[in-house]
Amino acid sequence: MAVFEANLAALADKVAAKLSDKRFQHCLRVKDYAVYLAEQNEVDPEQAAVAALVHDYAKERPDADFLAMIDQQGLDPDLKNWGNPIWHGVVGAYFVKEELGIADPDILRAVTEHTTGAGHEMAPLSKIIFMADYLEAGRTFPGVAEARTITDESLNQGVFYQLSHTLSFLASQEKAIYPKTFDAYNDWALNQSTWS
Ligand code: GDP
Ligand code: FE
Ligand code: FE
Repeated sequence: MAVFEANLAALADKVAAKLSDKRFQHCLRVKDYAVYLAEQNEVDPEQAAVAALVHDYAKERPDADFLAMIDQQGLDPDLKNWGNPIWHGVVGAYFVKEELGIADPDILRAVTEHTTGAGHEMAPLSKIIFMADYLEAGRTFPGVAEARTITDESLNQGVFYQLSHTLSFLASQEKAIYPKTFDAYNDWALNQSTWS
């Protein structure tokens, strides 16, 4: 445990160097909530701590960095039509891998999926990070208390709550909805009998 704590502190310093203090504090709160949810759901809390700490690592990079990475990795060119809200997770995972040296595929996947979610067969660690980002102690949106209670009762119900509310919120703001966000919601809605 002591070795893990030392490594986590070194990783936190690298993340802090790339983020405003405000966003770094958000990452620390996501870490606390992710460890809490991991312990409740039999997911490795150390993996959850690392994934949470790095989930927004790329969020403050210039657009040009993301566009260059999309080309470098040969990612779907449609990504270029989107922006930072989608890029910082989907493309951000490549910066986490290259610059922070994180190779654990579960962690990289949790970073990739943390904004959009994924279908109902989403990996447990991805569900934890998706929910911890939404529910961390600094979140104050209407319904956050209800969302925390639902997630305490069922991680799956929490994920579905977030997917449906985020979709409604984006539509109410007349924002574009990324296809993966839609697909994730539909997959959970269509398969409700298998996961609820
Ligand atoms: P944060 O990085 O901690 O602020 O949280 P997220 O990574 O979950 O979300 C980043 C932003 O992306 C939020 O403002 C979400 O509402 C927004 N977002 C989530 N899904 C979509 C989507 O499908 N389309 C668009 N345009 N924005 C989205
Ligand atoms: Fe994010
Ligand atoms: Fe976040």
